[in-house]
Amino acid sequence: MKLLFIITALLICNTSFCQTIIGRDTEIEEMVKEVSPDSLRSYIKTMVSFGTRNTLSSGTDPKRGIGAARNWVLSRFNEMAKQSNGRLSAIIDTTTLQPDGKRVDVPLLLGNVVATLKGTDPNDNRIFIISGHLDNMRSNVMDRTGDAPGANDDASGVSAVMECARIMSKHNFSATVIFVAVSGEEQGLLGSAFMSEKAKKQNWNVEAVLNNDIMGSNNSNETNIIDNTRIRVFSEGLPAYETEKNAATIRNLGLENDGKARQLARYVKEIGERYVDNLQIVLIYRNDRFLRGGDHTPYVQRGYAAVRITEMNENYTRQHQDVRTENGIQYGDIIDHIDFEYLRKNTAMNLCNLSSLAKAPSMPDSVKMDVKKLSNSTYLYWQAPKYGKVKGYYVLVRETTSAFWQKKIFTTGLEMRLPYSKDNYFFAVQAVNEAGNESLPVVPGVGR
Ligand SMILES: [Zn+2]
Repeated sequence: MKLLFIITALLICNTSFCQTIIGRDTEIEEMVKEVSPDSLRSYIKTMVSFGTRNTLSSGTDPKRGIGAARNWVLSRFNEMAKQSNGRLSAIIDTTTLQPDGKRVDVPLLLGNVVATLKGTDPNDNRIFIISGHLDNMRSNVMDRTGDAPGANDDASGVSAVMECARIMSKHNFSATVIFVAVSGEEQGLLGSAFMSEKAKKQNWNVEAVLNNDIMGSNNSNETNIIDNTRIRVFSEGLPAYETEKNAATIRNLGLENDGKARQLARYVKEIGERYVDNLQIVLIYRNDRFLRGGDHTPYVQRGYAAVRITEMNENYTRQHQDVRTENGIQYGDIIDHIDFEYLRKNTAMNLCNLSSLAKAPSMPDSVKMDVKKLSNSTYLYWQAPKYGKVKGYYVLVRETTSAFWQKKIFTTGLEMRLPYSKDNYFFAVQAVNEAGNESLPVVPGVGR
């Protein structure tokens, strides 16, 4: 009987994507509808009004500089906390840095604005992080006094973080979600290094980091083509933190395309496209843009699943440029260049992913692939996850050359035998709850 079910499930799957009945969770669907272009615009307008948000700018001036900007973000988070039944709380998490001979030339009080939405299950210690960087720069990164609007880089990312906090703080999630407006990105990823190191030292169970940096502009400086239907997600291939021993296992099993960040990126694409209409999520198989970096990297280096979310086409006449007109070209990162409908969709894709992850059960435990004897079929088995109510599990299947999961097969059991050779396919297992929210996938280990 079980075998018959499996075969039926396989038959209704075509080669491009499986037809297993997967719907939207209506609560998440409603939240996605709440993402407001006006709200995003008002956040960016206020961030630009602080003149500059360079990390080295004034920390004490009430109107201008990074200090005023982070106090404002904190005050907004505190407003949102009132609607959260005491679950959302916010702080400016500070650390003192000394001049580093690079991009910090004075002793510096660095502060990330961190809002934490506590999970409703006290036993569930999972944490999901969304981040954007509040600081910005002019053409010269050490220039801390001149105007730097930084509307797209990265008030756009921070506005997405704040909008997610505004909407999600009215809802319940089993796991904890942290919303962070980072400082010191342009001075060398300082705020994220501080926060990820803290997470590591304090043993936070961070299962995913969505870093949003430059996500509101719809065209490049080279063409006039408007593209507000695609967004890029960067994820590392070979995990940077792997020890030699783990690297050998990855090589042996051919899992160089199945690291944590890559799995997260595939998840982000599937859930983002499930809930946000008219948006294609384009996976880029590298940690970041060529020779450039971002706030997800300090997390990646400490072994966390972290990805960078960035607009499809960057415009270099705007990024890291003093506002000016030269030879008829307008330079500078001003608010007029933001496409708020595009930013709405990009914010919504973060919102549905965070909500799905934080509502879902945790990942299934001890997922194994039986290798006791050679066989042309594959037998997978696992245990129930630690947290959350489970309706069942999805077994994911893809060919070795496929970028994405091609089949998604539902079962209520804790095992599945598949008529596919483990030589020719990759597999993973997700836990799913009644509302259809699935966990991140787990690649099976070797079961002897
Ligand atoms: Zn940036």
